[in-house]
Amino acid sequence: MTDVVVVGAGPTGLLLAGDLAAAGVDVTLLERRHDESNLTRAFVVHARTLEQLDARGVADRLLGSGTRVDRFRLFGSVSVDLSPLPSRYPFMLITPQYEVERVLVERALAAGATLVRGATVQRVQQASDHVEVDYRDADGTDRSVRAAYAVGTDGHHSTVRSQLGLEFAGRSVVRSLVLADVRMTDPPTDQLTVDGNTDGFCFVVPFGDGWYRIIARDRRCELPDDAPVALEEIAGVARRVFGTDFGMHDPRWMSRFHSDERQAERYRQGRVFLAGDAAHVHSPAGGMGMNTGLQDAANLGWKLAAAVQGRGDEDLLDSYQDERHPVGRMVLRLSGGLLRAALLRSPVSRAVRNRLFPAALAVPAIGRQVRMRQSGLGITYGRARGADRLVGTRAPDVTSADGTRLYEVLRHGRFVLVTPPGSAVRADGVVTHVAPGARTATLVRPDGYVAWAGSDGDGLAAALARWGARPVVDRAGSRAVADS
Ligand SMILES: Cc1cc2nc3c(=O)[nH]c(=O)nc-3n(C[C@H](O)[C@H](O)[C@H](O)COP(=O)(O)OP(=O)(O)OC[C@H]3O[C@@H](n4cnc5c(N)ncnc54)[C@H](O)[C@@H]3O)c2cc1C
Repeated sequence: MTDVVVVGAGPTGLLLAGDLAAAGVDVTLLERRHDESNLTRAFVVHARTLEQLDARGVADRLLGSGTRVDRFRLFGSVSVDLSPLPSRYPFMLITPQYEVERVLVERALAAGATLVRGATVQRVQQASDHVEVDYRDADGTDRSVRAAYAVGTDGHHSTVRSQLGLEFAGRSVVRSLVLADVRMTDPPTDQLTVDGNTDGFCFVVPFGDGWYRIIARDRRCELPDDAPVALEEIAGVARRVFGTDFGMHDPRWMSRFHSDERQAERYRQGRVFLAGDAAHVHSPAGGMGMNTGLQDAANLGWKLAAAVQGRGDEDLLDSYQDERHPVGRMVLRLSGGLLRAALLRSPVSRAVRNRLFPAALAVPAIGRQVRMRQSGLGITYGRARGADRLVGTRAPDVTSADGTRLYEVLRHGRFVLVTPPGSAVRADGVVTHVAPGARTATLVRPDGYVAWAGSDGDGLAAALARWGARPVVDRAGSRAVADS
């Protein structure tokens, strides 16, 4: 028996399990792999994800593992400057996915999550008041765990999704992409280099520790995923695209993969939810897959905790689908657009692309929108008719007179009432953060989005009830939130 079973300890499952455990929920995380992953699929962590990690007190540790990229070049001619992003983190962090997982696994275990390795989930069944999850453990013994809720964070080929019978609609969009981590004797000077021509497409980014990640596609070489990769195949693409192979040598690993664009129609069925790659997949273009999964988890965790603790109702749980499904769709479109632009074949189309992209990005509103969407900072959730326009937007990291930042206060995992100095707005049992930079009172959800804004006390009370924010005494019995 447990409160919540999370299936799959990739980045999405780890963040979710950590949030649930930190909220005092009994959570069991079942993971098929026996060991920690040393696989690096994702390597870009965007600004909004760093803000979410900051709200959990682990952003600084991750920052130490990677390199910051605040400007990059697309298609030879387009320079994208991230430094105007309105965030404490106006850059992309380049760091291996296993570093993200390492930070999250430590946090989840420290918060009290139970992680069972070598546990392969095979069956998920729901009843009206519980979910039964059957798995085979590391010794080959069949076991089962019963919970109030289950979440499938078990990746692209999700067993949980197929047990629910949910369609994963979409298609394969690109085959025979090759991936390698290499050393270079003559690396590119740009922090991130990407271009393509009639022969292929190539992307290079430094990890900052002497290793370079390359993703390449040779148009003349369409091979199945299990066909071996030779370094010369990648070096050849680089020479044809950039005019140099940067002296690449000593690959530490190479693989070939194909990329799909798919999204589950629904992210919730009864007591079972999907998040991360189990719910949506797309190409690596834009580096948004892991980031989107982490933000699914940030959206779902506090809602599930509220349901388990008797504060959240069905509407609150349904808001996960309402809020995150449209984001998944937007990310598929954005990533798909970038991929198609990168793979354009004809010289004429490429010339048009190379003229249009800089022209479009030079328009301040368009440039800002692209940066905000890709970084995740521009993601907003819907608001009820008549609600203040701030509702559903990301809460900025406003600082109190004593220098405490909102995202530090959010580390308690609870709602925060942000007010300008002198505001009469108060909510019993909810921590108040008085910030000279705040223009109006806002109720900020545990995931850093605005649940309510204004001065109307009845509206605030309604928002507290709607979002399951009734204060609870934490496990240790202290009123840490109210006192902080
Ligand atoms: C080449 C490449 C580059 C990428 N670059 C980026 C990038 O820069 N930025 C970015 O944001 N994203 C990137 N992505 C995407 C990113 O890697 C994924 O979106 C991310 O790993 C998804 O995390 P997840 O936790 O949802 O799923 P996964 O990482 O797939 O984790 C799922 C976990 O579930 C476990 N599991 C599966 N089935 C079972 C079962 N039956 N029982 C128990 N456990 C199970 C698996 O062992 C695994 O540990 C890239 C992807 C590729 C291929």
